[in-house]
Amino acid sequence: MSKKLSPWESQLVNIKKVSDLMGLEPAVYEVVSKPKAILQVSLPIKMDDGSVRSFQAFRIHHNDARGPTKGGIRYYPHLDLDTEKALAAWMTWKNAVVNLPYGGGKGGIACDPKKLSKGELERLTRAYAAAIAWFVGVDLDIPAPDVGTNAQIMAWFMDEYYKVTGRISPGVITAKPIVLGGSLGRTAATGRGVFFTAVEASKAFKIPIKGAAVSVQGYGNVAYHAALNFHDAGAKIVAASDSRGGVYNKDGIDPRKLMEHKKKTGSVKGFPGCEDIGTKDPLTVDCDILVPAAMENMITGENAGDVKAKMIVEGANGPTTPDGDGILNEKKIIVIPDILANAGGVTVSYFEWVQNRMGYYWTEEEVDQRLERVMKQAFKDVHEQAEKYKVNLRYGAYVLALGRVAEAMKLRGWI
Ligand code: GLU
Repeated sequence: MSKKLSPWESQLVNIKKVSDLMGLEPAVYEVVSKPKAILQVSLPIKMDDGSVRSFQAFRIHHNDARGPTKGGIRYYPHLDLDTEKALAAWMTWKNAVVNLPYGGGKGGIACDPKKLSKGELERLTRAYAAAIAWFVGVDLDIPAPDVGTNAQIMAWFMDEYYKVTGRISPGVITAKPIVLGGSLGRTAATGRGVFFTAVEASKAFKIPIKGAAVSVQGYGNVAYHAALNFHDAGAKIVAASDSRGGVYNKDGIDPRKLMEHKKKTGSVKGFPGCEDIGTKDPLTVDCDILVPAAMENMITGENAGDVKAKMIVEGANGPTTPDGDGILNEKKIIVIPDILANAGGVTVSYFEWVQNRMGYYWTEEEVDQRLERVMKQAFKDVHEQAEKYKVNLRYGAYVLALGRVAEAMKLRGWI
């Protein structure tokens, strides 16, 4: 395969392969290869300097056979429909892997949040919420953060939604600030989930975590919390990067101090005692465990051959292209796929939605224990499917997800 595939095409390649492997009727692929609904809107915003800019925005429902669609909102300058479609589909598979009663969705605005003032960001978020209010809902489609968005943006979205609908329904969006109905443990959840699945894989494949050299790409919320968990379990963080650069120290980096440095300077770059490396170099440095937690299409046919890790835990969505995956497979590198490894975030989003609907809130300990249980079970289910079909964990995860979605579609009479 030499043609460069788009994220949506890569996703379809995997689904087609797995659907053939499982011998599913063609109707399954026919339905899941087309998103259920796509809403595209333009959001005219008055900028601080008096000019008007119109921003392109989307919300996509990929498949809702298993329940309301669920997935994040991304603010990113190069956002396009193809990638959004792939991200929505990955949510369908991810939610099915961890067995949440959800389908998959995603949305976003083509904008650079770092270049907007706080006022512009709020006006843009409110315009987005008002434009898509009819397309989301506690029983319809439930957004959350993704790249470029955070709890404050969730709070503005929620507030505008309440105004437009005249209803207080906190379960319409998740990863809200705690005082507005957010769940304890949500911020750390994706990184913790990455760690929990790595622990299960380390037992299954005999790759010890204690003493392991861990490299993380993309030092945002996911990588930071993953790094903290690995570090506290006795692993050594040897490399980390963000969009401005990377750092390497074979003797280990303190993840907390590294985050303090990033908060102060805007980047991990220049962290004392480290060698400066490039943004993509953490992918190929000497390490035992690699956590790509930046963006899509990072491990490709071009650099997969240089990956030295024994195990990759995909914190980002779609960090590995099918070409890259083929090479990792040949090299017998264990890959815990995105739709399993990073499902901790949406799992605690689900817990938040449940708590919102009950109006009764859990302690952080309860949230954590439940998260660990879900991630352990999901790893076990994926591993079982991988063994049954004699495939790697990525295909094992797709088998599990596609099987669950296909069953729901069949029972609902769609196929
Ligand atoms: N954006 C996150 C993801 O890709 C979280 C989604 C959610 O919590 O709904 O999994």
